[in-house]
Amino acid sequence: MNITPSLNRNMYRIKQNLLHMINPKRCNYVLLGKPQKEDIEILKKLDCDVPEQADTFSMVKIGKRDDKSYEKSITTLYSKGIIIRRTIEDTEGNKIIREYENSGYDIKDSKSHERTVIQKILNKISGDFETNLIEKFNTYKFEKDGKIKLQIAKNVTDGNIINATVTEYPLTGYKRKLESLKKVIGLKLEMIDGLPHIRETFETPNVKIFPDDKYLPFRFILNPETKLKALTKLFIKDKDLDKLKIKVEVSEDIDRYTDGYFSDITGKIVYNNVSRTPHVKLAAHEVEHAHQYRQIGRLGKGQSKYAILSRNLYGSIENLQDSMEAHKYAIASENYPVMKKGEDWSKNPDYINNYLEIKAREAEKEAADEYIEMGSPLNKQFFFGID
Ligand SMILES: [Zn+2]
Repeated sequence: MNITPSLNRNMYRIKQNLLHMINPKRCNYVLLGKPQKEDIEILKKLDCDVPEQADTFSMVKIGKRDDKSYEKSITTLYSKGIIIRRTIEDTEGNKIIREYENSGYDIKDSKSHERTVIQKILNKISGDFETNLIEKFNTYKFEKDGKIKLQIAKNVTDGNIINATVTEYPLTGYKRKLESLKKVIGLKLEMIDGLPHIRETFETPNVKIFPDDKYLPFRFILNPETKLKALTKLFIKDKDLDKLKIKVEVSEDIDRYTDGYFSDITGKIVYNNVSRTPHVKLAAHEVEHAHQYRQIGRLGKGQSKYAILSRNLYGSIENLQDSMEAHKYAIASENYPVMKKGEDWSKNPDYINNYLEIKAREAEKEAADEYIEMGSPLNKQFFFGID
């Protein structure tokens, strides 16, 4: 599929928005010269910090009618026709760098639903003042008869605060005449110890927020790592595993067939950064393992720090049924297969049929079903749903 034309349209839109933003009194600003794409070698020769993959760039200069000394330059870097960085600098010392990360299209529905992820990292430097805003966009679009339905999920992150919005535009192409039909839900989230807390909400009259949905704030987090870690923290809390201070990490250095694992030796949950498994499943699965190994520890079995800590913090298991269940965990852990490096675990029956794995898969299914069910009233209101 050729992604370039629609992507360019998208970029055009962003550019127009950008021009509106920086150009509130339009008539005061003038375009100095025509933008042109240039070979990147020119920039490299000027000793600029140029990303490896950049192959072309363009530069636009904007001046002010009433202030001849003012000049703003917008430099855009491209890789294979796709924008990767834009720097906006003016003679007043303002500087904004936006980095664009494009994961390309991943097809939600083979017929028509496409989505793009654009990440903008905003480093605003204005004199001594520096902020680190991160803007992340997920754009979903649907095309029919030349018209486009568009949904944009956006996160603007500033420290612990995430301002999250999902906006669905009606099927009117890019003109968006029917502004009143626009659907918007916005949440202001505060991240505390990795968990999102809703501080403010916003909704247009044509949509409704369902506050009973315990996953509501999680659905609006676009950064996959933040979301995965947050869901893990939630399940750790739900399972009353807080006291064990389990570390949650995302790693690049993990076997490709492993989406994630819990280790009682290190007391860590580690996820694969390229995993495609839905976050809610992944988190519920690994937290279940953390629970299982706590129970094994409470039986007085296991010599890992985690097992001993579990025994000390939670005591022995009083309930007979829980204790019998824990004995099953202990037996299964002793029979847990040792996997070879690079082995596809999903094809090993000793792994698949291990009791610890059977129970972890049950936990992930339960969590995934709840996630979908609770989110259904919210999702039904948006053409593309909300993750
Ligand atoms: Zn497992």
